[in-house]
Amino acid sequence: MKITKHTVAAIHYTLTDNSGNILDSSAGRDPLYYLHGEGNLIPGMEEGLEGQEKGNKLKLKISPEKGYGVRDERLIQQVPRTAFGDQKVEKGMQFHANNGMVVTVTNVGLEQVTVDANHALAGVDLNFDVEVLEVRQATEEEISHGHVHGPGGAHH
Ligand code: ZN
Repeated sequence: MKITKHTVAAIHYTLTDNSGNILDSSAGRDPLYYLHGEGNLIPGMEEGLEGQEKGNKLKLKISPEKGYGVRDERLIQQVPRTAFGDQKVEKGMQFHANNGMVVTVTNVGLEQVTVDANHALAGVDLNFDVEVLEVRQATEEEISHGHVHGPGGAHH
């Protein structure tokens, strides 16, 4: 069976940057199960996996446009220190902003805190080594929920 819209695939992956540094990997963990064709993975990953089948190993080079997006300088903002109340604020900390976005503190000044809402991998070329372990048809329920149930998926 090939990976097409509304199949569930299990994959192992290793993500490296252009210098070969491993940024993320499923090695040593459970494989990633996902419902294909519902935007559960970044676009470049879904495009690369389309038509693949169990046992296939592939390398995908994904540009930021098809990955986590390009960096947007407008997503870097100055926030008054007082907005954090009594909370400790340090460089590298992450907060949920009121709009639901995750922001990372990139600088802490006396009066102002700089926060960046860009994804940590925005602007990064992604190099994936992927192995397809399993492909199956999604159930009606999975399709209506837009995600995987059972092993590697939601339990509800
Ligand atoms: Zn569900």
